Amino acid sequence: MSAKKANLSGELKKYFGFSTFKGQQELIIEELLQGKDIFVLMPTGGGKSLCYQLPALISEGTAIVVSPLIALMKNQVDAVNGLSSENGVAHVLNSSLNKTQTKQVFDDIRSGKTKLLYVAPESLIKEDYLEFFKELKISFFAIDEAHCISEWGHDFRPEYRNLKFIIDKIADVPVIALTATATPKVQDDIQKTLGMTNALVFKESFNRPNLYYEVCPKVNVDKEIVKFINKHKCKSGIVYCLSRRKVEEFSQLLQVNGINALPYHAGLDQKVRVTNQDKFLMEEADVIVATIAFGMGIDKPDVRFVIHYDFPKSLESYYQETGRAGRDGGEGHCLAFYDPKDIEKLEKFLAQKPVSEREIGLQLLNEVVGYAETSMSRRQYILYYFGETFDPITGAGANMCDNASNPQKLTDATKDLEKVLELINETKEKFKSKDLISVIVGKENAVTKSYKLEQTSFFGFGKHGKENYWKTILRQATVQNFLLKDIETYGVLKISPKGHQMIEGKFKEKFLIAEDREFDLSQTKADSD
Ligand code: ADP
Repeated sequence: MSAKKANLSGELKKYFGFSTFKGQQELIIEELLQGKDIFVLMPTGGGKSLCYQLPALISEGTAIVVSPLIALMKNQVDAVNGLSSENGVAHVLNSSLNKTQTKQVFDDIRSGKTKLLYVAPESLIKEDYLEFFKELKISFFAIDEAHCISEWGHDFRPEYRNLKFIIDKIADVPVIALTATATPKVQDDIQKTLGMTNALVFKESFNRPNLYYEVCPKVNVDKEIVKFINKHKCKSGIVYCLSRRKVEEFSQLLQVNGINALPYHAGLDQKVRVTNQDKFLMEEADVIVATIAFGMGIDKPDVRFVIHYDFPKSLESYYQETGRAGRDGGEGHCLAFYDPKDIEKLEKFLAQKPVSEREIGLQLLNEVVGYAETSMSRRQYILYYFGETFDPITGAGANMCDNASNPQKLTDATKDLEKVLELINETKEKFKSKDLISVIVGKENAVTKSYKLEQTSFFGFGKHGKENYWKTILRQATVQNFLLKDIETYGVLKISPKGHQMIEGKFKEKFLIAEDREFDLSQTKADSD
């Protein structure tokens, strides 16, 4: 084993020039080379590519890398070709190639030098290519951006759904799936769809201790942002807006206020887009005002703030977008402006979508609202969303959010939690948060009627508290692991072992909560300085 280890380190040095592996790279590569299926969950910048590039370079045959981003594929291939003394070890196969180019790629692969073949999913599943792939000696399959398989991820691609079927037809070799999206729901979806529930899972923490998270009510937002940027003079930052129109308007407003800002969105002329992006990267512009089109594959280490003029559609996107701050480990302020009316607009927009998309969209929005309104540690909330437990007192970066700097008073809600747990137990763990709250405050709805919950003794037991109070209890009890959110139904609340201990009177600690913040935007914004 140690000889093998020394050998892998040697190969790492030889091909990549690095002296040590990052995180769990070495373990992952060893297991893949042993023929195991592997699932890697690692935040952006964690070093995922090397986990399949190095084993591909040192294995017999060709590794097939499925990647959805045609624009980034070329960069990856150039980078790999630059690593090896023999040029042409990596190739691309996607719809951007014409017939002659495709034939050339096939010829090159047949010649046997190709170690990595990057394919777009739609090319891999093409019947015409199937025979060709079958004849190849394939070392393993790598599925990059594996979250594209899941409708719960932030970039669902239907072609990804067919990958398992086609891979099985081509060869019986190991599969390594990689993603930077780690919500338990997406993870579950990926493993099931790729038929790799037995895969070895390698997960790294998604915590970014140097980022400071803050949410402000969206009042006088233009003025507030100008004030914020002026306080961070000459520092690099990104302001995300939902619409192209807002991007244009707001970048102009910043310019009028003497801030060196440029717009970026997919509707701009390609040349302007590239120029603006380059100016930002080269420090000729301090601020880029952008839609979510900006950021993919951008690696500027010293972005000091990421402001969300509008709230994003999911916590996943929020994490990805704010993740562009503080890559160098230095300061990174993540400020989001929240107005419940914006959420209503997003809900209306979802109402026009097909049912399943709408349902998922609403659930994701629900989490976003939870994050915006919470009084808990925002870091704890985000990490919980990624299936990670975080100690809000001792965890790395525990003091780095507005709720930690400006804590709300805590109340002892142990008795109320006990009642809620009993209710969930008595009703056989069948209901989602919304319906449980209706039962607690005694408000009829279709679900309470169909289960005749009005006739039970617990209907309306919590009338004395506001709906928001009970919502807070359910949310914080979930994040604090008294309740579990069912993965299949996403939303039905079940009792965790810790919750059962509480019911049985074996849990001796108090359940303390801070009431969630209420955003009454009719009042003027409290000074956030
Ligand atoms: P991801 O795909 O997880 O976002 P990348 O594969 O792009 O991450 O890697 C992020 C950066 O880390 C790249 O610049 C890469 O060269 C670097 N990197 C990867 N592995 C190592 C290593 N073992 N030592 C030093 N740098 C590494």
